[in-house]
Amino acid sequence: MIQVKELCKSFDGVDVLKNITTTIKKGEVVFVVGPSGSGKSTFLRCMNLLEEPTGGHIFFEGTDITDKNTDINLLRRKMGMVFQQFNLFPHMSIMKNMTIAPVKLLGVKEEDAVKEAEKLLARVGLLDKKDAYPAQLSGGQKQRIAIVRALMMKPDVMLFDEPTSALDPEMVGEVLNVMRELAKEHMTMLVVTHEMGFAREVADRVMFLDGGDFVEEAPPEEFFTNPKSERLRSFLSKVL
Ligand code: ADP
Ligand code: MG
Repeated sequence: MIQVKELCKSFDGVDVLKNITTTIKKGEVVFVVGPSGSGKSTFLRCMNLLEEPTGGHIFFEGTDITDKNTDINLLRRKMGMVFQQFNLFPHMSIMKNMTIAPVKLLGVKEEDAVKEAEKLLARVGLLDKKDAYPAQLSGGQKQRIAIVRALMMKPDVMLFDEPTSALDPEMVGEVLNVMRELAKEHMTMLVVTHEMGFAREVADRVMFLDGGDFVEEAPPEEFFTNPKSERLRSFLSKVL
């Protein structure tokens, strides 16, 4: 689904991503972990060109998204993104937050969008909040809304950048539950997180980003119990 070839990204001459090559298959749940400042967000943001790579290529479903002729807005609709800060539209009701993009961008009929939104809101236990505004919701509720709002676009892949890092601890579980359900349904997911227990439970593959490249990647059991490199051993000893 996503093929990354020799991806490079630098900011003001500082190389943050150095020649990254990797592949994410359809239905795969891939976690990216690594020290703060190692470029995890930059990597994720390159996937939908929120950051423009300084080198290399990213193929999404066979199309080179770094090609100047590619319609990036069309591709972005197929990639849902959930951020640490929920990024809901504050002046719109939850229902409007859910329906605006499919109605405006995909031409879905308002009534159909509302039906779909109600279904998704019910799934995450928040149907009773459809007329509320973001400011009236807790962090965990906002993040669950952010996830189902992204699903309204029927994305082929979901990108998560530390979706639980801004939450009070008691709200982390409810957001992870929604992500766990998605993974079970074989949504293709690329997840940056510090929730190592969750990564171990849900990931098909965990990748360790350090020094601008993936130092090591493995299925979770192997990744966490049998790290090969000294750098990953050292990282895990700090976070586990
Ligand atoms: P992580 O998400 O792993 O904490 P980031 O991808 O946010 O790391 O950042 C990686 C490095 O790139 C950091 O040194 C950060 O300061 C730098 N960086 C990120 N975004 C920008 C930007 N827009 N301009 C300049 N430097 C940036
Ligand atoms: Mg980050």
